[in-house]
Amino acid sequence: MNFTIKNALSPVKEGYTTLDIQVMEGIITQVGQNLNVIGTLIDGQDKLVLPGFFNAHTHSVEKWQRGIIPPLPLELWLAHLCDFAPLDMERVYLSALGTGVETLLSGGTSVVDHLVLIPGQELETIATVIRAYQTLGIRAFIAPLIQDEPLTAGMPEGKLLASHEYYCRSTDETLAIVEQAVINFHQPEKGTSILVGPTGIQLCTDALFTGCVALSDRYQLSRHSHLLETKAQEKLAAEKYECSAVKHLQEIGFLDEKTSLAHGVWLNDTDIEILALTKSTIVHNPLSNLRLGSGIAPILKCLRAGVNISFGCDGASSNDSQDLLEAIKIGSILHNITDPDYRSWITPKQSVEMACLGGAKGLGVHNHLGSITVGKKADLVLYDLTALSLLPRTDPIGLLVLGRPVNVIDSVWVDGRPIVVNGKLTTIDIDELRQELFDRSGWEAGRESPTLGKIESHYRRIMSLST
Ligand SMILES: [Zn+2]
Repeated sequence: MNFTIKNALSPVKEGYTTLDIQVMEGIITQVGQNLNVIGTLIDGQDKLVLPGFFNAHTHSVEKWQRGIIPPLPLELWLAHLCDFAPLDMERVYLSALGTGVETLLSGGTSVVDHLVLIPGQELETIATVIRAYQTLGIRAFIAPLIQDEPLTAGMPEGKLLASHEYYCRSTDETLAIVEQAVINFHQPEKGTSILVGPTGIQLCTDALFTGCVALSDRYQLSRHSHLLETKAQEKLAAEKYECSAVKHLQEIGFLDEKTSLAHGVWLNDTDIEILALTKSTIVHNPLSNLRLGSGIAPILKCLRAGVNISFGCDGASSNDSQDLLEAIKIGSILHNITDPDYRSWITPKQSVEMACLGGAKGLGVHNHLGSITVGKKADLVLYDLTALSLLPRTDPIGLLVLGRPVNVIDSVWVDGRPIVVNGKLTTIDIDELRQELFDRSGWEAGRESPTLGKIESHYRRIMSLST
């Protein structure tokens, strides 16, 4: 579809200007004022135009457990999550669809799904979420979530636990699944990319990491992983490597300019220098870090050191939503309490740039995405500046980031394809999705996790908590 947006408000260095944007066959072909109308005319009057945000880290299937897991730190929360993980493809499909919808309706046009795989049906799981994202029309980066050590290995001294067992699949078999996924599904030009996605140092051997590096080099894939999300992981890294996790990942060649790492809560100053040097990205997931008590990531220090930062919602069981604007807001103002020098606090315009260009850089796709630039792909969002939550008229981006925007999305295009028009999704029936989610779930509370019972006393001991 060819179209021209006329007279939309757009940020410039100082303030705003009104812009016209011409799009032909999915590419931005002209940006300026008083442009001729090519294709459909889109009235941008009283609307703000921004590039689409990146939801740069999530796990779609967690949607089925949002709101139900009690307040617990990551290591114990994971026990709950895994004990009740849904294992059928219909639910996998619906949760990807729901994650994509919530991302789109909060300004996102790309989602990075660090995808939990159903054992024995790994490729089918990947095919299923791709079908969901393609049906919806959101740009998808799928990082199959892989590990080659069991959950108990993810805690300091965890291998001493009676319940510690070997992982169910060999490292080579796991890497073969990822390679097959690349062969079957990696089609960046069609809006679907496969990433290598080792879970993190807590559950992966060096062989798995280096196998991922080899696949990434062979097929030009971006790399994605969790990094130092919790204090326990910092302790585990010292136990495993006798150096910091970041230093170790640098030594085994995992860090480069297309490596994005979720969380980075427990980074030290040397780690931050290494991340800047290797041009790696930290994906900031502030809500998940608060929900699980993981800590506050040193984002201002990272920014000062030149580390690229993007935003993620993280999975919907540790958030418990997929509202990108909420993640951006909290992830920006949270740091006003970590650093008294207000001159380094994150401004709303900076937040938007981190969510757009920062997201694209983290995936190594900033030459094609992340800004409204001639030659880039038309992943665009129009915000309705007459929506009640964006009134009265002040600084539109200030209010979008710092306010509580509700129903503010007017239009969304991905690759120039209209996905949202007049606030309504064009590609799927939202009422049908609501009905499916309702029918396949039930009110519940007070679940007991059997795995939690097996590991809690160990966790309390290693974290020096009273027993
Ligand atoms: Zn995660």
